[in-house]
Amino acid sequence: MRIDTHVHTSPGSRCSQMSIKEYLKATNDIGLSTICVTNHGEIGDYEILRASAPAGLHVIPGVEISSPDGDFLVFSTDMAFLGSLNAVQALPGRSARPPDTAVVWAHPFAGNPGGAGASKEYIRGIAGGVDGIEVFNGNWPDEEASALARSIAHENGLAELGGSDSHRLDSLMRCHSIFTRKITNAAELVAAIMDRQTVAARALKKG
Ligand SMILES: [Zn+2]
Ligand SMILES: [Zn+2]
Repeated sequence: MRIDTHVHTSPGSRCSQMSIKEYLKATNDIGLSTICVTNHGEIGDYEILRASAPAGLHVIPGVEISSPDGDFLVFSTDMAFLGSLNAVQALPGRSARPPDTAVVWAHPFAGNPGGAGASKEYIRGIAGGVDGIEVFNGNWPDEEASALARSIAHENGLAELGGSDSHRLDSLMRCHSIFTRKITNAAELVAAIMDRQTVAARALKKG
């Protein structure tokens, strides 16, 4: 199944122009059965989404954090942990994360094609602290960065994901992740990332 694993809603993410109501409507129009919301250091919109989702729609919470080493998407079954994360902070080390938590390196080296200048050691250091990496990100469509992300995934045994990083309705699903299993909750999403059972995908270009 296909899931957009990187989405920002308003008001949770101030940079987003997509309201919770619009997200739910688009989800229904596209025909999605599982959606994610990954706002910056915020889980309030998730709570509203979950409470207002129609029967049969599964909503999975995540949080995006921005650190000096880049941005990371944190998925967890532990809502208190997710709720404790700030928009800007260092990524908690593995020992500081609850079980059933998966971290995805979002848009690695965004705006820095191919990660120019980053040493292998530095990259390996970050890769060691994550479970997955975005090979495709809708906001940073950079072939060089995608190729580097894929090689980082291969060298470090990371799950490969795609996320639209949508802040607007019309970009939903432009990049997304394909899961080989049915995903209906955070535990299943985390397990699939941990088991590397994901494929990064992009929507086919129209016309
Ligand atoms: Zn980001
Ligand atoms: Zn984002």
